Amino acid sequence: MPLDAAPTATLLSATGLSITFDMGVGGLLARLTGAKRQQLRAVNAVDLTIASGETLALVGESGCGKTTLGRAVVGLYRPTAGTISWQGTDITDLASPARKSSRREIQMIFQDPYGSLNPRLPVSEVLKEPLRIHGIGNAAEQDARARTLIQQVGLPVDALNRYPHQFSGGQRQRIAIARALGPMPKLIVADEPLSALDVSIQSQILNLMADLRTQHQLSYLLISHDLGAVNHLADRVAVMYLGRIVEIGPRDDLFSRPAHPYTQALVEAIPRVGQGKRRRGRSISGDVPSPINPPTGCAFHPRCPKAQDICKSDLPALTALGDLSHHAAACHFPERQP
Ligand code: SF4
Repeated sequence: MPLDAAPTATLLSATGLSITFDMGVGGLLARLTGAKRQQLRAVNAVDLTIASGETLALVGESGCGKTTLGRAVVGLYRPTAGTISWQGTDITDLASPARKSSRREIQMIFQDPYGSLNPRLPVSEVLKEPLRIHGIGNAAEQDARARTLIQQVGLPVDALNRYPHQFSGGQRQRIAIARALGPMPKLIVADEPLSALDVSIQSQILNLMADLRTQHQLSYLLISHDLGAVNHLADRVAVMYLGRIVEIGPRDDLFSRPAHPYTQALVEAIPRVGQGKRRRGRSISGDVPSPINPPTGCAFHPRCPKAQDICKSDLPALTALGDLSHHAAACHFPERQP
């Protein structure tokens, strides 16, 4: 069984997934100037699975590759290496029939509810557009589905006749969720779905996502830097650093017994009710290194309080922390599990 395997049926699996962006200095300019072509490896040899009905959270600092990975799952980026499978069928090739048929079942919610809805369309058309794209129902059935969807996200039916600019940020995110639900997906990739919202609204959207997961047997790939939200919704958590997964495991296990020094620092920075702004603990020194020129060995070594010589030369493999555990970390000196 793979290290990150979940106990129920696997919906999506990524194996050895890498996504590299060409940073542009090349061709004639490179020959004339002698400049080298630069490549940014945003996602580097990632393995993960998402089970049916499961929420897997991808966490890490800005620029760690989590959004790029989420977009590759949806089919917005073409992997440079590795494979993505959907219910056992390879969908890596974006032009393949298998990928095309998976598009209905994998939907996305974006970070910005202001920019992700077409301002020129009334909400009814926003919700019916994906139904038309995927050939779901006739006109009358699409009208009926739009009425159902808007109510499922807690908005009144008359919201269908209004335009996105007439709603608050939280209401727009509800509309975006309704649009994603329209084609009856099995997996929703939610990319920082709370970060553009007021704190007072965030918990409402989190609760809505949790309710919808139960009602529709949804799986989520939740991309977030907000570990409080992750703690509320996720079943398992994958921590990314410079394009790689450095720790993955069941939420409670990972939050209560983080093994990787980077995860430990993230967990210790989670705000706790009644404990002021932050718990006291280790903070992460320094900035995330450039993914164009990452450090050798363990990429976290320039910032790691436990770094030793081997960390500068040898890349640690993602390794299970116990015989029966689905909790794994990529560290030469992981915290021991009790
Ligand atoms: Fe720190 Fe070394 Fe572990 Fe990397 S491998 S996290 S540098 S102790």
